[in-house]
Amino acid sequence: MAQGWEQVEHGAVAVLRAANGGTYPYGNSLVVRGSGGTLLVDPSLALGGPDELPAVDAVVVSHAHEDHVVGLGEIDRPVHVHEADLAGIRSTRALVEGYGLPPALTEDLGRSLPTDFRVAARPDATGVADGHVFDLGDRTATVVHLPGHTAGHSGLLVEPDGFFYVADIDLTSFGPYYGDVGSDLEDFERSIRACAEVDARWYGTFHQKGVVEGAEEFRARLTAYRTVIARRDAALTEFLAEPRSLADVVAHRLVYRPHVDTAFVDTVEARTAEQHIARLVRAGSVVEVAPLTYRAA
Ligand SMILES: [Zn+2]
Repeated sequence: MAQGWEQVEHGAVAVLRAANGGTYPYGNSLVVRGSGGTLLVDPSLALGGPDELPAVDAVVVSHAHEDHVVGLGEIDRPVHVHEADLAGIRSTRALVEGYGLPPALTEDLGRSLPTDFRVAARPDATGVADGHVFDLGDRTATVVHLPGHTAGHSGLLVEPDGFFYVADIDLTSFGPYYGDVGSDLEDFERSIRACAEVDARWYGTFHQKGVVEGAEEFRARLTAYRTVIARRDAALTEFLAEPRSLADVVAHRLVYRPHVDTAFVDTVEARTAEQHIARLVRAGSVVEVAPLTYRAA
């Protein structure tokens, strides 16, 4: 799939829609143009080299994942990110370690991200908190902390246009991803509920679902998206009809389909399974019958 993008305007927000629609490793960046300043949000692999980047005053990154930080080292502008993801923007090592992979895979990733995603550390990046307002003159962009995918994952509400960028609460059929060291299943659920409370005209996602118009449609899609979490709970409970070890659950898979054969699958499956098991145990619907072995109650 080639690089390249098409600009689609939603009020003062230009979505730079990736040529492939935004499926990973690509994504849909935003440019927010106000009378007093312009922001680039989540520079993606679709944008091409430094000469092709739109002229902006600053960059806002929704979270520290490689597909949202492409070419940051080539952009001579201030970079802002939620403080809980700041370490991963200031240091490539911290970004790579955020995946919590085994050492050999961490080393591989540390070598491949600078090449494959043009990842480069921005030690000068600044952290922002929930509610931080970027004043762009005739419009504002407000940081909305939506943790779960990563600890610092944040959206951006552009007003008065009514464009709410929700980044990797991406509404895909794959469902929510909460498999990193800094991820949290229950934070993700709270963030989905928080998104549903926001009245906007447009809701922008980074990946292939692109922009959804209207709060009613957005809320319906959020509900479907959230259902994937409930399906993982149900699939796990069913699998635990017999006593199973955590390794059994990882091999059975809650997240990825059987044909997916990438290096990080077991790590993500384990972290996802641990979070689901922990809360089913808290709820009393699963019991630990031996160390790291579980059965549905
Ligand atoms: Zn992400």
